[in-house]
Amino acid sequence: MILPSLQFAARTFSSADKRHLAKFMWNFGYKGVRSVNLFKKRLKEGIHFPPFIYISILNSCNLRCQGCWVDVDKPQIKIDLDDLNKIVNDAKSHGNSFFGILGGEPLMHPELFDFFAAHPDCFFQLFTNGQMITDKKAKQLRQLGNVTPLISIEGTEVVANERRGGKDVLNRTLRGLDNCLNNKLLTGVATSLCQTNIDDLLTEEWLRKLIDRGVHYAWYHTYRPVGPQIHDELALTPEQARTVREFVVNMRTKLPIGIIDAYYDGEGKALCPMANGISHHISPTGAVEPCPIIQFATENVKDGGIYDTLTKSAFMKDFRETAAKNTRGCIVLERPDLVKELAEKHGAKDTTLRQTAIKELEGMKARNSQWLPTGEEIPEKHPVYRWAKRYWFNDFGVYDEMERKAAEKKATD
Ligand code: SF4
Repeated sequence: MILPSLQFAARTFSSADKRHLAKFMWNFGYKGVRSVNLFKKRLKEGIHFPPFIYISILNSCNLRCQGCWVDVDKPQIKIDLDDLNKIVNDAKSHGNSFFGILGGEPLMHPELFDFFAAHPDCFFQLFTNGQMITDKKAKQLRQLGNVTPLISIEGTEVVANERRGGKDVLNRTLRGLDNCLNNKLLTGVATSLCQTNIDDLLTEEWLRKLIDRGVHYAWYHTYRPVGPQIHDELALTPEQARTVREFVVNMRTKLPIGIIDAYYDGEGKALCPMANGISHHISPTGAVEPCPIIQFATENVKDGGIYDTLTKSAFMKDFRETAAKNTRGCIVLERPDLVKELAEKHGAKDTTLRQTAIKELEGMKARNSQWLPTGEEIPEKHPVYRWAKRYWFNDFGVYDEMERKAAEKKATD
């Protein structure tokens, strides 16, 4: 376990630009931890403001992925530079320093690089399909030093075309990936695991290919059957969800690559990063949403500062608490009925351009998510992941009430 970790550190230090690495360690590492500590301190005062905000800066995309919930085929809407800077400056003034930048395809936003340049004291994770990252753009990102590209790969050649509704998808993405690595950027590869790619991409062989290519970290999401065309057949079974968790825990101890997950604490207990309040989302319309796939909102960043909006939102509070009272998993997958109920109770706006979000929920059947049955949790084996999650990534006590009630019920049954 120790040797792969030392190899990972050594190859990261030797392959990444030094100034970029220093910004990562300071703006994401030190200041990121500080922002979570501030978040925990505010929680004790009953104030909910997430340390990590994810911003979908526009809806446009050059691909058409199965199960995409973004209005990629609609006329372009985007959050302009002024509003993006307002969001980040307000969040920064409350201790935040890390932001996830999504789309559509964020590289299609004309002010993206001006936005990154405006915040040298922050670190951004850029969720991209990589196809628009030319050598010139990768050089610009290196110059900025405060961006890590997280490039999504959804399958081998044939599956990638099918999953993403394009031609030569994998090769075009790999060209963007290589431009990032050649320009010494800390670079990750993300996959939304589903029936058509799990056998190819949830393998040690695939991770070793990424390591050989120079990739620094991987992120395995699990396919969410949501949006206008849900492709329910692609979703993972409970057994596969368990296999994913087991694989991630084992590979963290075996391979010199970082592996992110956002769905389990150090003890292997499932969690939802919306319900524990560690992250929330802003849509391309500026709507303040619980998370990217919950396309309802009662507030918009155009109505006021993000701190005031989030800390005062009754809708967001009720969403977190309702989710935490009902599941440690994904409320959208497990209880789409509750999502509809909450949206109607608060008179929340459908934030999609297609205006079919309620109809989509009505068409969804409840299904499994990341929540493995009690007693089947798979704890972290790697001490560093376990330690980091114990302090900075866990449920922050939001499930205590649900578990107390479950224990009481068990005692009386
Ligand atoms: S509601 Fe579901 S998709 Fe949203 S953050 Fe929670 S687990 Fe993830």
